[in-house]
Amino acid sequence: MRKYEKKETDMLTELYCNRCGKKLHVENGIAMEGVLPVDITWGYFSKKDTQRHQFDLCEDCYDEIIRGFAIPVDKKNEKELL
Ligand SMILES: [Zn+2]
Repeated sequence: MRKYEKKETDMLTELYCNRCGKKLHVENGIAMEGVLPVDITWGYFSKKDTQRHQFDLCEDCYDEIIRGFAIPVDKKNEKELL
């Protein structure tokens, strides 16, 4: 869940993990800790035809969820973030 301050441009002011409700640290509109932002618009062949779903997960919740995966996450180290 994200809250934005209305200025000339929307600036992120508060950020919460949707799963556990933890408030994540935000400075100058930037998340200062690990967060998985999810924003998906479901397609015509899904059961959620054209619904847009948005949520955020903290790193601990992400780790807990992927621990339950039957097939592990592909992991690679990137040289730098864009
Ligand atoms: Zn969480």
